[in-house]
Amino acid sequence: RCADMNDIKLALLGSRGAGKSAVLVRFLTKRFIGEYASNTNSLYRKRLSIDGRQLNLEVFDPCSQQNVESRCILEEPVDWADGFVVVYDISDRLSFLNAKNVLCQIKEARMESCKSEADVPVCLVGNKQDLCHVRQVSEDEGRSLAQEHKCPFQEVSAAEDHQEISGLFTKLIRGVMEHLKHR
Ligand code: GDP
Ligand code: MG
Repeated sequence: RCADMNDIKLALLGSRGAGKSAVLVRFLTKRFIGEYASNTNSLYRKRLSIDGRQLNLEVFDPCSQQNVESRCILEEPVDWADGFVVVYDISDRLSFLNAKNVLCQIKEARMESCKSEADVPVCLVGNKQDLCHVRQVSEDEGRSLAQEHKCPFQEVSAAEDHQEISGLFTKLIRGVMEHLKHR
């Protein structure tokens, strides 16, 4: 693993419409466009430097799926990715339930494939904070779900904010670097 220590692979997971692509594009470009291709899988690459280290970041942004009923949408990214960004929409309760489901499935799939209980680096994102007047998920619920899975959590707005999204990705990437070091 040493040779590609500086390659970091992340995958985004979550309900259709939760804002996975918007959050990712915001992180990568600092911009919010409004509409994002949803019928293809995309792989984004970016070079960035964190804590003085040059990293090649690859992020898998899957095409929009319905809520995860089965394991299948997870299979590819779970084996490929070093870490996961799980996104839900705070104004959509179903997307939160789906995120819960996804977090459990990541854990299970990883335990099967790695036979290890080491926590997979994951972060939980409650997106569309600008829609808090029509909120269906409280911030506390998000926070406690994240605590259950021992992962960083942040409510963000891809539409309005860059800083928080960037901070969360940085935290996750640090977690991934730690994780890879101990493998
Ligand atoms: P994906 O299917 O999870 O990739 O979701 P998209 O990134 O395509 O976003 C779905 C829709 O939600 C689009 O119309 C976005 O413009 C909108 N959206 C994404 N993020 C936000 C946000 O933070 N606030 C608001 N109000 N809308 C957002
Ligand atoms: Mg998308």
